Amino acid sequence: MADIIQLLPDHVANQIAAGEVVQRPASVVKELLENAIDAKATSVTLVIKDAGKTLVKVTDNGSGMSITDARLSFERHATSKIKSAEDLFNLHTKGFRGEALASIAAIAHVELKTKTEASEIGTHLTIEGSKVISQDPAVVPKGTTISVKNLFYNIPARRNFLKSNPVETRHIIDEFHRVALAHPSVAFQMHHNGSDVFNLPSSNSRQRIVNIFGSKTNEKLVPVSEETEILKIEGFVLKPEYGKKSRGEQFFFVNDRFIKSPYLHHAVSSAFEGLIKNDVHPGYFLFLEVDPHSIDINIHPTKTEIKFDDEHSIYAMLRATVKHSLGQFNIAPVLDFER
Ligand code: ADP
Ligand code: MG
Repeated sequence: MADIIQLLPDHVANQIAAGEVVQRPASVVKELLENAIDAKATSVTLVIKDAGKTLVKVTDNGSGMSITDARLSFERHATSKIKSAEDLFNLHTKGFRGEALASIAAIAHVELKTKTEASEIGTHLTIEGSKVISQDPAVVPKGTTISVKNLFYNIPARRNFLKSNPVETRHIIDEFHRVALAHPSVAFQMHHNGSDVFNLPSSNSRQRIVNIFGSKTNEKLVPVSEETEILKIEGFVLKPEYGKKSRGEQFFFVNDRFIKSPYLHHAVSSAFEGLIKNDVHPGYFLFLEVDPHSIDINIHPTKTEIKFDDEHSIYAMLRATVKHSLGQFNIAPVLDFER
């Protein structure tokens, strides 16, 4: 029989890989915001149109890129953030796979404007379906602006699969919240179809929570703070009476990265035992810091899941710390009527 296996052309391989990273406009928002943070921006602006379906644009005042790097940034597995496999276990950046921009450029019309501090003049690059269309010198400020237009323009099935504008906007706002909460010292703005959605000045984490969720949130917060050799915990839980039947404000960050963890959620919930009804979820904003060598975040395409070397100790410490914080606030059990 004749040989039948062929290597896929690059643009096809890129489109397939893109499916892993980019599910919806919110995925683009997450990747671009994280790149801005990795570039050490102190101010980041997100502009979207039509729930991100026609435009997602992120502007930052970070490091910017050289002319060559601007081109390379759209190559697959091209990254400035790691050099070796060992670096995967000593990560200090959000990104490390060098896949996001390559994936995005495979399935959208992308425009990049960027300039470093050192160079006088910046560069303006356009790319469509993984093909560089143009690159020209441009007079732009230090930092980077990336516009992602017409997402999934070349994959109609994916485009049709997108949800309504309110649903896609909700996903975008969720991603925006996560990055903004993890980096309170960075100023963030968001505009949708020309109107302001958020304007968050540089602040501390309590103020950032209040700026996002409203001034009434301030009195609901119970501070949580603990530090041992393996784990540092900072943040807040909401007083038990502000728990919700639906999943509400539940945020875990590990080394400034938002993660989902049913296991850690259980640790916090169990610390609320006796203070909250069984069908009510506690709210929390918890920032965990661990040695990067003791975690693996390379287990999921969107990097929202994490593996701890010593998850039992982390569970126990988290539970004890939250319990202690609630106790210090003299919160009386509210469930007497259930006995
Ligand atoms: P990763 O973040 O995993 O490295 P990306 O595809 O997101 O992969 O980005 C590729 C590279 O492009 C980054 O490693 C970085 O060097 C550069 N880059 C991307 N976005 C920015 C930005 N906003 N500012 C400066 N450099 C950036
Ligand atoms: Mg990235």
